[in-house]
Amino acid sequence: MKPGDSLIHVLPRELADKIAAGEVVQRPGSAVKELIENSIDAGARSVTVVLKGAGKTLIRVTDDGSGMGWHDALSSFSRHATSKISSHADLDAIRTLGFRGEALAAISAVSSVEMKTKRAADEIGTRVHVEGGTVRVHEKEGCSAGTSVSVRNLFYNTPGRRKFLKSDRTEFRHILDAVQRAAMSRPDISFVLISDGETILTSEAGDAASRVRDVFGTKQASTLIDFSDRTGPLAVSGFLGRPRLARKGRSEQYLFLNGRPIVSRNLGHAVYRAYEHLLEKSSFPFFVLFLEWDPEKIDVNVHPSKVEVKFEDENLVYRAVHSAVRRALGAQDLGADLALQAGGARGDFGRETEGFSLAQLIGEPSPRPSDPWGPPPGGAGITSDLFTPDFAARETGTPPAGPPTLDRPVWQLHDKYIISPTPEGVLIVDQHAAHERIIYEKAIIRFESLQVESQELLFPQTIELSPADAALVAELQPLLEKLGFVLKMFGARTLILEGVPSDIRPGSESTILGDVLNLYREDEQRLKLNPREQLAKSYSCRAAVKAGDRLGNAEMTSLIEQLFRARVPYVCPHGRPVMVRLSLSELDRRFGRTS
Ligand code: ADP
Ligand code: MG
Repeated sequence: MKPGDSLIHVLPRELADKIAAGEVVQRPGSAVKELIENSIDAGARSVTVVLKGAGKTLIRVTDDGSGMGWHDALSSFSRHATSKISSHADLDAIRTLGFRGEALAAISAVSSVEMKTKRAADEIGTRVHVEGGTVRVHEKEGCSAGTSVSVRNLFYNTPGRRKFLKSDRTEFRHILDAVQRAAMSRPDISFVLISDGETILTSEAGDAASRVRDVFGTKQASTLIDFSDRTGPLAVSGFLGRPRLARKGRSEQYLFLNGRPIVSRNLGHAVYRAYEHLLEKSSFPFFVLFLEWDPEKIDVNVHPSKVEVKFEDENLVYRAVHSAVRRALGAQDLGADLALQAGGARGDFGRETEGFSLAQLIGEPSPRPSDPWGPPPGGAGITSDLFTPDFAARETGTPPAGPPTLDRPVWQLHDKYIISPTPEGVLIVDQHAAHERIIYEKAIIRFESLQVESQELLFPQTIELSPADAALVAELQPLLEKLGFVLKMFGARTLILEGVPSDIRPGSESTILGDVLNLYREDEQRLKLNPREQLAKSYSCRAAVKAGDRLGNAEMTSLIEQLFRARVPYVCPHGRPVMVRLSLSELDRRFGRTS
């Protein structure tokens, strides 16, 4: 290298834009989010999203908002070009969804974008075509008032990013989530989503209640508790799921601040705490919450995707949300929910709560959330090598001792553990973990097998799916069928369940599919496994006997028999131990026997 050569140089604009683009648009869903936000900011009364190939081929967002003039249409594609703020002072009180002036620049750096736009007062509109950051066309064009932005071939010039995209089904579900959240945030705007010619969602402008019905389906909406609380410094309103309909995951929690969809662990925790004694362990309430607060007391400029916010007084907001939700729940007769839980696996609940009012039960909020929000995400070390035999050897040091002789007695302890003598001591098996392991291995085998084992339902069930569940079912249908579910889609959102896998226990036929889908969704967010493993895990967890299920002798014997035929009998698919063995010598030692 010649002396004087400098190592540091400024990146060419196009490269810099590509890099910046990665922060704003990670996937088709984020492009959809940004485009819808622009439409909302432009005062649209109606927004239509059209997709081809899960947004990889085409995303078109059309609105009837303000439109742009000849010059603005072009400059909207420049980086940091925005009409929404112009000074530092504006940044302190942002009322629009956008303000960074990055989205159109970012999207057009990594795709081919065609914009048609016209202001109502103008005779003629403008068409701009930008490809890979380069302006190809800027011309007059006749079009209707408003703006239509078509994004084609997203990430065509960043093959790394394009390769990183998930299956169409998965990308579609991210888009659906973005549209649902946008639609929930502004019930006064009508929304339409069309994907590959199929209408997925249509919702006329209305109020929050009608929007909830359109987005989540009439059935789910009818069970929600709606409330509005304007007593505190912060206006809180929304819809709360009944405790008994709590989900295993947090994916169905919708939080909006001044009409902006946000995520906040802290506020999620505030709601969770308000439900505290009403929920079973590790289940999370469904909620849609609208918060309204002085924009000057909020900083939304903390993250490029603008979903995180900072509050001037985090504690105050926490307390306001907590008590509003608590009051809303306290005003409800949740007797049915409580009774249901008291009879469930955690049977200690009913007695403890007799004679207490719900308000007493729920308790006062602590000023500062001291415990983290629920159990930490991510199971312990769940990897696919769990499935290899040497994992078992590593875990326990010894190979299986072989099945206990089967005419040996078995006992059930607290409807939770199975106990059986073995030649060298005693075996204690966790019934749920054991069954989970057995079903998990069966599921993996079934995915590969050509034979399908299924039990026909005497009365086929019609299940109304939310759009998100419908999309998930479509994605998983081949695998679900291999497991033994017999399903027929009837239109876009209705499913007819005609059969279930043969190892489903009687009584849970009607709920198993929904349970499996919920758990799948939760696991998917934290575990990032392939769909097969993910589904095998959620299916086995939901189909297995639970702690609290009374088992007959034959059932226990068969469980232990099957367990010892499993490839990895020692750990459940989540990595928890399945069995504990106590040897006679260990017992002798404990009892002080020296022999
Ligand atoms: P930001 O939204 O942060 O301002 P964008 O890159 O998303 O940045 O948009 C740049 C500008 O283009 C906006 O500030 C707005 O003036 C204009 N614009 C974008 N989309 C629309 C639309 N659908 N209707 C009217 N104007 C729009
Ligand atoms: Mg924007």
